[in-house]
Amino acid sequence: MANRLVIIGGGPAGNAAATYAARRGVEVVLIERDVIGGAAHLWDCVPSKSMIATGAAMSFTRSMQEMGLESRSAEVDVEALTARVDGITDRLQGNITNLLESQGVRLIKGSARMKSAHEVEVQSASGSEVIHADFVLVSTGSRPRIPEWVRPDGDRILTTRDCYPPKVFPESITVIGSGVTGVEFAHMFASFGSKVTLVVSRQQVLPSKDPEVAAVLEEDFLRRGVRLLKGARAQSIENVGDKVVVKCDDGRQVETTHAVLAIGSVPNTEGLGLEEIGVVMKDGYIQINRHCQSNIEHIYAAGDVSGKLPLSSVASMQGRKVAEQVIGGPKGPHRHLDYDKAASAIFTEPEIADVGLAEAEAFASGRKIRVTKVPFSSTAKALINNDPRGFVKIISDPATGVVLGGSIVGQHAAELISVIALAVTANLKVSDLEESLFVHPALAEALAEAAE
Ligand SMILES: Cc1cc2nc3c(=O)[nH]c(=O)nc-3n(C[C@H](O)[C@H](O)[C@H](O)COP(=O)(O)OP(=O)(O)OC[C@H]3O[C@@H](n4cnc5c(N)ncnc54)[C@H](O)[C@@H]3O)c2cc1C
Repeated sequence: MANRLVIIGGGPAGNAAATYAARRGVEVVLIERDVIGGAAHLWDCVPSKSMIATGAAMSFTRSMQEMGLESRSAEVDVEALTARVDGITDRLQGNITNLLESQGVRLIKGSARMKSAHEVEVQSASGSEVIHADFVLVSTGSRPRIPEWVRPDGDRILTTRDCYPPKVFPESITVIGSGVTGVEFAHMFASFGSKVTLVVSRQQVLPSKDPEVAAVLEEDFLRRGVRLLKGARAQSIENVGDKVVVKCDDGRQVETTHAVLAIGSVPNTEGLGLEEIGVVMKDGYIQINRHCQSNIEHIYAAGDVSGKLPLSSVASMQGRKVAEQVIGGPKGPHRHLDYDKAASAIFTEPEIADVGLAEAEAFASGRKIRVTKVPFSSTAKALINNDPRGFVKIISDPATGVVLGGSIVGQHAAELISVIALAVTANLKVSDLEESLFVHPALAEALAEAAE
């Protein structure tokens, strides 16, 4: 009899593991309490980027004259926007569900917990069921962190999950947190015409990023009238009827019609019965080895619950690695998942993307690197697109020429970074990029130029 893999949570991690394992003959049961596709489709990646795309279309209308067009202003139609976001998520959820079903994955809509190390208990509309599992994957994701000093009301004090789209578009909004999610929300609301204040706890937005990269974004925020409240931590948020009052620890106070929290996430691991069966956890995250295996050999964790990189792409790859382990190891040469080589992007304007070794990281460790930087303004395509902002930076080993990392700020950075990500993963040299025949006119020409 085939081994049975029981997966709790149908986000990117669970789905990738399910399809990869089922295709290779494993009996897979996938339990999901909300919707297949997970938080990634319902609340996080897909709706946020759908809204940002609509916001970008609105921003475009403001620059129509520069493109040789008659200027027309656009208005938000909340109903149409809701239908658009719902339409995209429904379609993606349908695609994944069909794929899983076509591969023979048994889908159960219900809430699961571990009854014992080899038994998963499911509560569904049709009652309770206990399923024997040879292998278990816990991929239950995470949810927004809500600190004890604030109580979101879904009306004026919002979490990111209340914004797809919000019931009314805020006249003004305070975004608490200036990490990736915070800057994306600040950008999104500014594109829709809201007056945005961003509470930045340090002296730079995106504190973990290259200061040069953060500076381009800050410049764009200031140009668009986004107010940056630097060195301030929000301490309380109060809904006083027609507005919210945000008080910071340095005495500063902001009054806006709305506020949104973007201060990280917490793992969905409580109530799963994991501690009871002896799974080692830290701060609610399941501790895993490089095979995504917990301390109990047949119990794996992937995605946000593993406390590694909270990215949908990483979750999917972890899920795939788990499936490889379940089928007895990969068929071809094995590569461990290298979290340091994950590309990531921030969907602001301009977009920001990076991969691999960062300049600051190399300097801090004393590693010798070669850095080459080319502004997009030197390419024909950026001028044609009417957006010459930003640059491409490639970091390589001066002795061997091997590409170690890079960052891109500018239009389509999230797409273009894939070229550098491939180079980093495949140990390509800058000469490989330099000698590639890229399209002209294309923004990618800046990559070839930076490789010279
Ligand atoms: C606003 C925002 C925007 C983001 N944008 C991006 C982006 O553009 N790109 C990117 O790569 N990442 C993005 N992320 C991060 C990304 O969403 C997560 O890293 C990703 O969703 C993690 O996938 P996962 O499989 O671990 O979990 P999830 O997608 O969270 O799925 C977990 C699933 O498990 C289910 N579940 C939980 N408990 C149980 C239970 N007991 N029984 C049954 N089912 C259960 C949940 O209902 C959920 O459907 C964003 C995050 C946020 C907050």
